[in-house]
Amino acid sequence: MGYGDAVYAFCDKRADEIKEIDNIIVYTYEQLGECGFPYYIAIRDNNLFQDVKEQLLNDGKTLIDDLAIFVGADNQESSKVNSGYCPICEKETYFYEKGDWLRDEYLCLYCHSIPRERALVHVLNQFENNWRNLIIHESSPGGASADYLKNNCKSYTDSQFFRNINLGEYYNGVRCENLESLTFDSDSIDIFITQDVFEHVMNPIEAFKEIERVLKIGGVHIFTVPIYTKLDKTVQRAKIVNNELEHILEPIYHGNPIDQNGSLVTYDYGLDITKFFSNAISTTIYLEKNRQLGLDGEFLHVLICRKN
Ligand SMILES: [Zn+2]
Repeated sequence: MGYGDAVYAFCDKRADEIKEIDNIIVYTYEQLGECGFPYYIAIRDNNLFQDVKEQLLNDGKTLIDDLAIFVGADNQESSKVNSGYCPICEKETYFYEKGDWLRDEYLCLYCHSIPRERALVHVLNQFENNWRNLIIHESSPGGASADYLKNNCKSYTDSQFFRNINLGEYYNGVRCENLESLTFDSDSIDIFITQDVFEHVMNPIEAFKEIERVLKIGGVHIFTVPIYTKLDKTVQRAKIVNNELEHILEPIYHGNPIDQNGSLVTYDYGLDITKFFSNAISTTIYLEKNRQLGLDGEFLHVLICRKN
């Protein structure tokens, strides 16, 4: 089966019949009209895609935006798809590459999660499979994995750090917490989650110590953070001196859902990341690459730090 001008399509109703990407049913436009909604259409040829899209829209039919971007890609190499099981959707899905940077561009068709989010949920299922019934707190949540945890754990709470709000108070319904100075009672939380937060923390030793304090004995801090495996030693990029921010290296900012200026990267963690944890913590660093679970891409480590 070549790509050529063929129209590759699959719809919800038949997705469960499609097991292998090579076996994707090929529809012509006429056939598409019969297969129900929503349509997930993958077309390798961008001009043909625009034609089909226009015809479908003229017929009053809707296309899913994200897929439209994916299928409309000019670069044929970027239109890569594999079938698999999404830990966040808890069902069979397709994972597709929207671009080369898999960390942010290898998405689940249904929940649009990125690999590190699926890795985190997969690790929770492996290491703390009773998590739905435990007390979970997540700092600075965002994305499909945080929504999933919130919807599936009765005792899930979250917080963000707002600069001018008192710690422990609420701003627009969201609790304000600073990782370096938490207001929670000691020994009160079963699972503390942070997803790509620690590369923005100014004083990680303090923050890890605080999380350890609020965890129950046997509780875990499960988190993702970029680990540069080529770095033997962690590199600090910025620090606070006399209440002033001082850049050690050229500043880099990541997107932040609550701050349009983004978040400054303070550390590039290396292989020595465990030096930031106390002796009372035992650490597992989990790395699985498995396309069946949508696990692939850069920086896919998940750390499991258990309080002994
Ligand atoms: Zn999914």
